[in-house]
Amino acid sequence: PSALREVMVQVPNITWDDVGGLDLAKQELQEAVEWPLKNPEKFEKFGITPPKGVLLTGIPGTGKTLLAKAVANESNANFISVKGPELLSKWVGDSEKGVREVFKKAKQASPTVIFFDEIDSIASERGSGLDSGVTQRVVNQLLTEMDGMEELHDVSIIAATNRKDIIDPALLRPGRFDRHVEVPLPDETSREAIFKVHTQKMPLADDVDIKQLAEQTEGFVGADIEAVCREAVMLTLRKDIDAEEINLEAFEEAMNKVKPDHSAEVEA
Ligand code: ATP
Repeated sequence: PSALREVMVQVPNITWDDVGGLDLAKQELQEAVEWPLKNPEKFEKFGITPPKGVLLTGIPGTGKTLLAKAVANESNANFISVKGPELLSKWVGDSEKGVREVFKKAKQASPTVIFFDEIDSIASERGSGLDSGVTQRVVNQLLTEMDGMEELHDVSIIAATNRKDIIDPALLRPGRFDRHVEVPLPDETSREAIFKVHTQKMPLADDVDIKQLAEQTEGFVGADIEAVCREAVMLTLRKDIDAEEINLEAFEEAMNKVKPDHSAEVEA
């Protein structure tokens, strides 16, 4: 069977409003991905070429995948998501073919955002890993595809990593992943925005103050906050399946469950 069939094109329904905080990262993605996909002529008019590849860096759960989906959707583009390790295993013995298929499919479905998650796994410094032969061939194929997309302004490439330090420098050179966008640990204002996103449909008791929840969750990433909100609902329903609202006690219990060592850290 053709490997092409394994490349899934999605149309994500995530919007900018689903991403709490991260205002700078959103703005940078708008400029680097949304503008070129939506208004290529503006760039041509002034004789500049938009960035080809954007590298999102940040620890797990900070919202890198979410941002990539949002920018694809907001650009009216299709979305192809490929995980680094998947690429190495799915096309055993023919990983370069996998890369070619991804780009071929992206062109067919354009405008398209290609998202390479965990890029460090296929792009760790050449010759350093155990499987350096395959990794090197995949990196080379990726470079070839990116260098060959000169005329393509309707395909945008985003890669994500939490290990920028081990990425092959060849991938970071101009014309490749040369635009770096940091996805930081959310500050208090961002945490408040993330709590708002995830409690949007929850009836909250009067004693729940989103600002206070944000204050109490220093060190939590977006994925943790989502888990807290889900857990608060589960704890509430477990006690009373007919409960009408979620109270502060449920949130506090949920915060301790999601990050048990957290309160100790804060008090120390
Ligand atoms: P990984 O490196 O583990 O792939 P990631 O940075 O790609 O993590 P996501 O997969 O985007 O993180 O986030 C996981 C989930 O956490 C999201 O689906 C979302 O529900 C929630 N989340 C993370 N960040 C945010 C945010 N800024 N606003 C709202 N929800 C968020």
